[in-house]
Amino acid sequence: QRIGVPREIFPGEKRIATVPDVVEKLIKLGFTVTVESTAGEAANFSDDAYRAAGADIVEGAAALWAQSDIVLKVRPPSAEEVALMREGGTLISFIWPAQNPDLMQQLAAKNVTVLAIDCLPRTLSRAQKMDALTSMAGVSGYRAVVEAANAFGRYFNGQITAAGKVPPAKVFIAGAGVAGLAAIGTAASLGAIVRANDTRAEVADQVKSLGGEFVKVDYEEEGSGGGGYAKVMSEGFQAAQRKMYAEQAKDADIIITTALIPGKPAPKLITAEMVQSMKPGSVIVDMAGEQGGNCELTVPGEAVVRHGVTIIGYTDLASRLAKQSSTLYATNLLRLTEELCKAKDGHVVVNMEDDAIRGLTVIKDGAITWPAPPLKTA
Ligand code: NAD
Repeated sequence: QRIGVPREIFPGEKRIATVPDVVEKLIKLGFTVTVESTAGEAANFSDDAYRAAGADIVEGAAALWAQSDIVLKVRPPSAEEVALMREGGTLISFIWPAQNPDLMQQLAAKNVTVLAIDCLPRTLSRAQKMDALTSMAGVSGYRAVVEAANAFGRYFNGQITAAGKVPPAKVFIAGAGVAGLAAIGTAASLGAIVRANDTRAEVADQVKSLGGEFVKVDYEEEGSGGGGYAKVMSEGFQAAQRKMYAEQAKDADIIITTALIPGKPAPKLITAEMVQSMKPGSVIVDMAGEQGGNCELTVPGEAVVRHGVTIIGYTDLASRLAKQSSTLYATNLLRLTEELCKAKDGHVVVNMEDDAIRGLTVIKDGAITWPAPPLKTA
């Protein structure tokens, strides 16, 4: 079968769903691979690099989609892309079925099979190698610190120089999931004093092991909902949390917020008043912009200055490190393709008896199979 990789058409999207090193491995599994001309350019992968890895290069999306049995993508396809898709073909991509019911209907009408990488059952340890949400969150957390450092007018690390003593920057991280932990590790490695908070007490040890200090809210309530994910906290907890965050905001030079609750708007943790209390030149990076933001003053997708504080609400942090995120994403998809092609004969078999594959498969031969039943083994 032929695997095709189109150029991402979402405005500003720089990632691509495969990279030359992975093309070689897909070919070893027995597939032929086509890449749309210039599709890798924004991530620093040239047509020549894909050719050298054994891929065919075609001009234009129409030709790419027409000849591909299996299409690998990053962003959910547009209506135009769905129209180009081959009847009976297979698509592997981020889909977000709950947020995109129309797209699901369009795809089903095409009689295709769709594997949504965002629907991977992440609690299966076997699924970790395919967990693109984790790899993209890791890249984003790193990039959030790089963005903060770029907008911040001082060093992160303390220094004693001939020109005087420089104090280390203080970084406060709200939410210590995958992205928050990556941000903690990155900020600590630059030499900042890092503090972090999460409603799930279980992350305290991970915060410490990455060089951060866990700051507790003075209120007894466990924040774990189902499957290791957060829940909405009580009014009492939220009031106590606001008090603690107000103290941290006055002290911090940089705040990075990553707090999300599955299926709910992002909790508002940083009020306008807290922003106002920060030192001029401070920076907030709000990673929850797409879900409404953790800070009241965030403008999703933009960097703005409010009360002398730069508030960065970029929603494309992984794309801003396109070579790295494309490489990790491509590797996640390679691991998935290996699971789908155990015979190494260049043919994909979607085995609905396999927990991980069942979870990912949101449309099978035109029939919507999302949401998957709960895991038997979880
Ligand atoms: P996420 O992006 O959904 O949320 C980010 C963080 O925000 C979470 O740690 C959450 O607890 C925190 N948060 C929510 N509300 C908050 C509030 N009001 N104040 C402070 N913090 C708040 O989370 P994620 O990064 O996708 O990870 C969520 C969970 O999934 C974690 O337990 C993680 O370990 C788990 N996970 C498991 C696997 C696996 O089992 N293989 C893989 C990836 C993630």
